[in-house]
Amino acid sequence: MDSEQLREYGHRMVDFIADYYKTIETFPVLSQVQPGYLHNLLPDSAPDQPETVEQVLDDVKTKILPGITHWQSPTFYAYYPSNSSVAGFLGEMLSAGLGIVGFSWVTSPAATELEMIVLDWLAKLLNLPEQFLSKGNGGGVIQGSASEAILVVMIGAREKVLRRVGKNALGKLVVYSSDQTHSALQKACQIAGIHPENCRVLKADSSTNYALRPELLQEAVSKDIEAGLIPFFLCGNVGTTSSTAVDPLAALGKIAKSNEIWFHVDAAYAGSACICPEYRQYIDGVETADSFNMNAHKWFLTNFDCSLLWVKDQYVLTEALSTNPEFLKNKASQANLVVDYKDWQIPLGRRFRSLKLWMVLRLYGAETLKSYIRNHIKLAKDLEQLVSQDPNFEVVTPRIFSLVCFRILPVDNDEKECNNRNRNLLDAVNSSGKLFLSHTALSGKIVLRCAIGAPLTEERHVKETWKPGVVNFGKGSFQETS
Ligand code: PLP
Repeated sequence: MDSEQLREYGHRMVDFIADYYKTIETFPVLSQVQPGYLHNLLPDSAPDQPETVEQVLDDVKTKILPGITHWQSPTFYAYYPSNSSVAGFLGEMLSAGLGIVGFSWVTSPAATELEMIVLDWLAKLLNLPEQFLSKGNGGGVIQGSASEAILVVMIGAREKVLRRVGKNALGKLVVYSSDQTHSALQKACQIAGIHPENCRVLKADSSTNYALRPELLQEAVSKDIEAGLIPFFLCGNVGTTSSTAVDPLAALGKIAKSNEIWFHVDAAYAGSACICPEYRQYIDGVETADSFNMNAHKWFLTNFDCSLLWVKDQYVLTEALSTNPEFLKNKASQANLVVDYKDWQIPLGRRFRSLKLWMVLRLYGAETLKSYIRNHIKLAKDLEQLVSQDPNFEVVTPRIFSLVCFRILPVDNDEKECNNRNRNLLDAVNSSGKLFLSHTALSGKIVLRCAIGAPLTEERHVKETWKPGVVNFGKGSFQETS
């Protein structure tokens, strides 16, 4: 590592990235390249001799950027946002610069301790119950993704229940969720060895705005117990991926508790909004949960990856996931004086991810973060109003946070044709490069999703999105391809 070279190249790279952000609106939001495009542009093998940074940056401009879908564009409305910010970027830079691997406390005490402190800070901002704080048996940990968060708590819960009922009962364990739960749960079940027939995917429909009905859960649990099966894991949602549905946590948690079921709450996207007192109600009932997850890398200005998981009982994780090979033994760990985050996660190695979250919290402060969330929700409200005023469209489910779910209305009740028209509209909009939306299906209807939450999105972008025109929406003047 040559410090002076780092200084020179680092400045050049920061300039490059700053220019990228300055010109981001000039790129098609959704990359328009065809599969395999890069193979035709790059050599078949690595260079034998060093090349210059200029050569590489030239290639980034001409060959890589065309294959980028611009998640940080102000008109990126697909999926859920994946925020980048100056503070998040600086934290990533510092983490790369320090280059530590913080699997055990001893490998960099600051990495473990900062993570514990910052997760406590955020737990307090979310007003999570005290049991989730690190001062008792609980605590928070940064995972790479919400999928990993679900997997580690499921494995912890699995080991806990198997200790109670016997190791041979794996085939009897049952998992519960609504059909709106993210596919990450299915993947966790596959990895954790849950029998596919023991995954209860309970129907949630428009009558509850796609929230899980507690009666359905109770019915399924009772039936399984009667059949000699063992209910062990429930995933509740605050802000589902399709439509931001919010499950009734308190009622679900009550059923979970009385049946010794682990209750995990997935608030991957919407959790961020709950730092605002007026949105905190959506996690009411979280006190009944065993674990809670939100992705700071979605809508909390923290660069990917930074998924926050809190548990009330850290020992459920460590009893399932800890290893103690000779080559990792050290005094602090042996004396049980410290947290070793390697035992709270799947991999051994881990990055210093708390730095970027710490930077975000310190450089912006809670009040700015609340305003940031509120602004996106206001923009989504404005869009929802524009859609509902347009006779050709409908808002499909009431907006709660910053996602608007809408579609072109059917003609003569022809739902099949209506789905095709919505698919065609989505293709036309996205191939225009002006904005990027994604879609979902709700009760068989193809629905367009406009998730507002990119840091650069302003009122003018949302207004422009709904302006009548060839690729924008509004007053039925869009041109459909058929
Ligand atoms: N849960 C919800 C509600 C989500 O919206 C998502 C992704 O969008 C996930 C889980 C999976 O997130 P990750 O990519 O962090 O695994």
